[in-house]
Amino acid sequence: MKLALVGIGKIARDQHVPSIAASPDWDLAATVSRQGTVDGVEAFSDFKTMLAARPDIGVISLCLPPVPRFDYAQAALLAGRHVMLEKPPGATLAEVHALRDLAEAQGLTLYATWHSRMAAGVAPARDWLAGKTVTEARITWREDVRKWHPGQDWVFEPGGMGVFDPGINALSILTEILPAPVHLLHARLETPENRATPIAAKLQFSGNVSADFDWRQEGPQTWDITIDTPEGRLDLTEGGSRLAINGQTVETRPALSGEYPALYARMADLVRTGTSDVDLAPMVHVADALTLGRHISVAPFHF
Ligand code: NAP
Repeated sequence: MKLALVGIGKIARDQHVPSIAASPDWDLAATVSRQGTVDGVEAFSDFKTMLAARPDIGVISLCLPPVPRFDYAQAALLAGRHVMLEKPPGATLAEVHALRDLAEAQGLTLYATWHSRMAAGVAPARDWLAGKTVTEARITWREDVRKWHPGQDWVFEPGGMGVFDPGINALSILTEILPAPVHLLHARLETPENRATPIAAKLQFSGNVSADFDWRQEGPQTWDITIDTPEGRLDLTEGGSRLAINGQTVETRPALSGEYPALYARMADLVRTGTSDVDLAPMVHVADALTLGRHISVAPFHF
């Protein structure tokens, strides 16, 4: 199937382009970006021009930051194309609801991707937890924003979500593996005095579930989830790629090596079966934190 990739930036180059190239399902037929291009692929700088010029391209994958993404997704669906959204799927919940409804009305596939759910340990963790009682869960998601988002000021602008840009990956895993849903009780959000979005957040959910997100961690990076049950402890570490039960490593064998190849395989299945996958549970928790959280002003941040 022919696909156009929109927004040729960090994640498009790091993950999307190699995953599409390695996939038997997809042919990267065009790119749309104001500056970025991919060698050997027809490049457009205007999205509507591409939609008009290439009616043969049936699927659009949007790798833009969340704020500009809605207009592109809406235009693609109105032009009769299936759409794949990077995470988080939009700047607001309401705009993703609108896209979901539009896709349904048009009879098209909309896939709100959560790449961390494709990490190797996530499905076996979900299977082990099924039917168990969670007595406590702790998320520690601490990384260096300068390393992972060098110079990307959009993450600190409204809609960029600040530390929830990585934190939502942890929440996408949590909402996939917990046997029963939880809801936010309170949150503390630390926002640099010169920025609009948090650089750190502490969240407390029902069910004794907590999260500690911080974007100021230099040195070793931490992406860990620990879950206690009466049957023992589950440790999902390294962003969901390593799983241990009661301290014993569980061998995980993903069907496809890597999160993004698995996302593209899933998108191929959704298009072939005429279905959509739009789960907003991770984003509901972020919206709740930004609604209910206590905002604390902290030291200015500069890249
Ligand atoms: P990025 O490199 O800053 O932006 C991607 C591209 O989007 C840019 O190269 C730019 O291309 C285009 N763009 C940016 N602002 C735009 C605007 N206002 N209007 C139109 N186009 C615009 O961002 P990224 O790191 O790739 O992240 C993109 C998405 O992927 C985010 O939702 C992020 O959460 C997700 N993601 C990122 C990572 C990561 O490691 N960075 C990992 C997983 C997921 P042109 O200037 O050429 O048009």
